[in-house]
Amino acid sequence: MSQEAKQAADQTVDPRGEAESARTARGMSAGDELLIGLSAATPEDEDAATPTEQPPVDVFATQWTEFDLRCRDCQITHYVPFCIFLNAEESPELVQRITSGHFNVKRCPVCHQIEYVEHPYSYYDPARQLIVQVRPEWEWHAGGGEEWYAARLEDFFDKWSEYDVKIEVVFGPQPLIDRFLQDAQPALTPDQS
Ligand SMILES: [Zn+2]
Repeated sequence: MSQEAKQAADQTVDPRGEAESARTARGMSAGDELLIGLSAATPEDEDAATPTEQPPVDVFATQWTEFDLRCRDCQITHYVPFCIFLNAEESPELVQRITSGHFNVKRCPVCHQIEYVEHPYSYYDPARQLIVQVRPEWEWHAGGGEEWYAARLEDFFDKWSEYDVKIEVVFGPQPLIDRFLQDAQPALTPDQS
C-alpha cells in the first residue's frame, strides 16, 4: 500500500469529505474494514516492531548456546551447552574433543547416556582462513528437502560473504576430521578415537 493510502487510513480522513467520513465511520463496509486492517499491518510497521539484531563483538570468536534436550530413554529434558562456533586457535581443547568424539554431545544426568547433538555448528581455522559448516549427518541421507537445504546454505554463504574466508560444508563430524583435522592434531592413537 502507498504511503498516502496508509496515512489516509491512519488518520481516518476520507478524501471524499467529512460528511462521507462520518457515515463510513458508523457503518463501514467489510471491504473498508479490510483495507484499514491491511494498512495497519504494513511491512514498515513490522520492521519497526522487530528488535534490531545485535551482532556479536567478534564474529570469529568461539560461541556457545544452550539447548533443552530430551533423553530418548528417560524422557527427561535437560540443559545442554552447545558450541555453535568453534575458533580452532582460540579453543584448541575443543578441536581435541572433536577428534576424540566428545564434542557437542549431550549426557543425560539420569541414565548417563551420551548422544551426539544433531545441530549445525561452524568450525573456523584462522590459519587457513577456512570455515567449515558441520551439518547433521541425517540431512545428507534425507533427500527431498533440497529447497530447504539450499536456503540454509545460502544464509551461511551470505553471512560470510563479506569476510575473506573459504567456506566448506560437511555432514557430520567424521568428514570434518577426515578432511580438515588430520594435520591439526598431534598424533592421536587410533584407540583414542
Ligand atoms: Zn536418560
